[in-house]
Amino acid sequence: MDNSLNAGGTATAADIPSVDRLLNRHAMQALLAHHGRTQVTHALRSHLEELRRSALAGALAPVELLDEAIASVLTMQFDAAARRRLRAVFNLTGTVLHTNLGRAVLPEEAVSAVVQAMRAPVALEYDLASGGRGERDTLVEQVLCELTGAEAATVVNNNAAAVLLMLSALAARREVIVSRGELIEIGGSFRIPDIMRQAGVKLVEVGTTNRTHATDYAEAIGPRSALLMKVHTSNYVINGFTHSVGVAELADLGRSRTVPVAADLGSGSLVDLTRWNLPKEPTVRETLKEGADLVSFSGDKLLGGPQAGLIVGRADLIAKLKKHPLKRALRVGKLTLAALEPVLAMYRAPELLAERLTTLRLLTRAAEAISAQAVRLRPALQQAVGDAYEVSTATLSSQIGSGALPVDRLPSHGLAVRPVKARRGGLDRLERALRELPRPVIGRIAEKTLWLDLRCLEESEESAFVAQCSELRP
Ligand SMILES: *Cc1c(COP(=O)(O)O)cnc(C)c1O
Repeated sequence: MDNSLNAGGTATAADIPSVDRLLNRHAMQALLAHHGRTQVTHALRSHLEELRRSALAGALAPVELLDEAIASVLTMQFDAAARRRLRAVFNLTGTVLHTNLGRAVLPEEAVSAVVQAMRAPVALEYDLASGGRGERDTLVEQVLCELTGAEAATVVNNNAAAVLLMLSALAARREVIVSRGELIEIGGSFRIPDIMRQAGVKLVEVGTTNRTHATDYAEAIGPRSALLMKVHTSNYVINGFTHSVGVAELADLGRSRTVPVAADLGSGSLVDLTRWNLPKEPTVRETLKEGADLVSFSGDKLLGGPQAGLIVGRADLIAKLKKHPLKRALRVGKLTLAALEPVLAMYRAPELLAERLTTLRLLTRAAEAISAQAVRLRPALQQAVGDAYEVSTATLSSQIGSGALPVDRLPSHGLAVRPVKARRGGLDRLERALRELPRPVIGRIAEKTLWLDLRCLEESEESAFVAQCSELRP
């Protein structure tokens, strides 16, 4: 053991032990057992290299060469590296379906179905009734048809993929007619014109940004027309002198000229949200009933399920989608289907949905309950941030998010944190400290205030939130 070095003074490069010798030391054995020789050797090499550099700078303290000190540095490095990157956070942004935070939070039934599907083989493409080969879509096709009134359904990776598949399978090398008012960008570089080009479709724009009429579509229909497309302008609204053609009118036109109508509904609600005093969003069933031949929508927006793109509609068209080679490339995995099945099943009991489906439960939380929660949590947060900040309760407004109903707001409550003395960077520091908690807390800074909207902090998670407050280092 070379651990007899003088505790004062500095150590030299010659005092640094070799990697091989260190690997045999008692202090290293736990690390070797956990992380294996390859990783530990690698970590030791780079740490000793660093010690050598500080020795040459005359800044190496002898205590840094103790076996235990070296082992503890390595342990910290391994712990930091093992910390998961995809961490659970508290979404206190006020946006319920936050794309950057993973959109819909899944109900427990879906969580346990996913866990089961990971642990054991599942009947993914296996028909248990006949013992023959099955198709993965059939796991959810029946319930989707039941809930929407569609003849057939298929599932792909997300709604962007659903739109790409519809266009590729039904309109490649032909024309698709879309209103100029619906040539939207969703974010994350999903733009309708780009996806048309990608699908090898010729986009025929009709009407103007604010006004499009049925005659505009009618005049554009020609021998190369493959599809009339309606895109739900989910993430923006235009007010004033506007006109657009509804699905019913477009479907009449499509039928008379034998051109199918596809609607990209975006959020695609399966139930009428006004039942819970939420803003009106067209449902998939209504859109089919109005005459759309195909409707596509996301699984993880208002539907409250896993990321997926669902397409429902006419059986002959869905059959074409299923046969297209892109379907194979865009298909969903078993974990998605495992999560989707119980979520869809919940819609069979709409009167219980607001209790069972996490997304809807969050969207329908009563403002008074959130307000009471703000009053309850204020003292804990005040204590955690210290007297450099003042925490008060605040009346806020949440939004649905993911482009759904962008102008509608849900009355909410939360906490407002303001520095007592205007110090530069104080709020940013606090925001960072909240992000560094074991379960990071994500709020939003505006008007020199950090806002924490409590709509998405369910009461069952309140104690976890309070418990980690003491670890805050503002
Ligand atoms: C969100 C959205 C999409 C993209 O859906 P993803 O599931 O995110 O791929 C496409 N179209 C509309 C109208 C949307 O709102």
